[in-house]
Amino acid sequence: MARDPVFPSLDLPDFAAGSVWLVGAGPGDPGLLSLLALHALQHADTVVYDALVDPRILKLARPGAALDYAGKRGGKPSPQQPDITERLIRLARAGQRVLRLKGGDPFVFGRGGEEALALAGARIPFRIVPGITAAIGGLAYAGIPATHRDINSAVTFITGHASDGAVPDGLDWAALAQGAPVLVLYMALKHLDAIAKRLIAGGRSADDPVAVVSKATTAAQRVLETTLGRAAADVAASGIEPPAIVAIGAAVRLRASLDWLGALAGTETP
Ligand code: SAH
Repeated sequence: MARDPVFPSLDLPDFAAGSVWLVGAGPGDPGLLSLLALHALQHADTVVYDALVDPRILKLARPGAALDYAGKRGGKPSPQQPDITERLIRLARAGQRVLRLKGGDPFVFGRGGEEALALAGARIPFRIVPGITAAIGGLAYAGIPATHRDINSAVTFITGHASDGAVPDGLDWAALAQGAPVLVLYMALKHLDAIAKRLIAGGRSADDPVAVVSKATTAAQRVLETTLGRAAADVAASGIEPPAIVAIGAAVRLRASLDWLGALAGTETP
């Protein structure tokens, strides 16, 4: 165990040369980084990072670390996933400490599993450092408990965008409409109209409360409160932008009392 210069008492794990750490950077606010993520930034030789990682987080990398962008930029096509994993493997084989920094949590809709499988297949030692996922961070910063006694004893995370870009058809939307008291959708703005219609067709009330949390935990966070029936039209009219999560269910009503960020900064209404 190498002593970390910033947190010597914590006995944080050594970032070994020739290994890859797959690290979640959280949803935006740099204050939500974990100590392990900061430790990794301070020891990495190369940081391979995604589009949603805040520039202030990258500034925490040790001086001299290479910063390698792996996301989409300015309309150019994004690097193919195999290109990214090959890059990770090549850098690790060259003896580098490779930090793969991803928005939110690496194992939640972030292809972290695919990257980890490729590393395992190539026999590259790796570590997973979880991050605060957008649903958890976004709900907290919108003042909506993910679970609340008497309201929901389950919370369901869903992607609104299948790998082929369509509404995910492998999901039983009617079962979700009836069996999932609180749903949190990622990547859902584009198909919100279709998803809301499927949920309503499956028996969910059109009056069910909805909160759309855009750019959650950043200075540009916006929250749109609406209902399932009106959500798609209200999103279009409001001009609210991705990245956003969409929370559906009665827990959203608690925001009326728990919008701590709005209370601190002045509330925004749609
Ligand atoms: N691994 C990430 C998710 C990547 S998928 C995580 O755990 O959070 C990208 C989607 O995440 C976006 O389309 C959006 O739905 C959500 N997202 C990421 N950052 C967000 C943010 N700051 N605010 C709201 N949604 C966000």
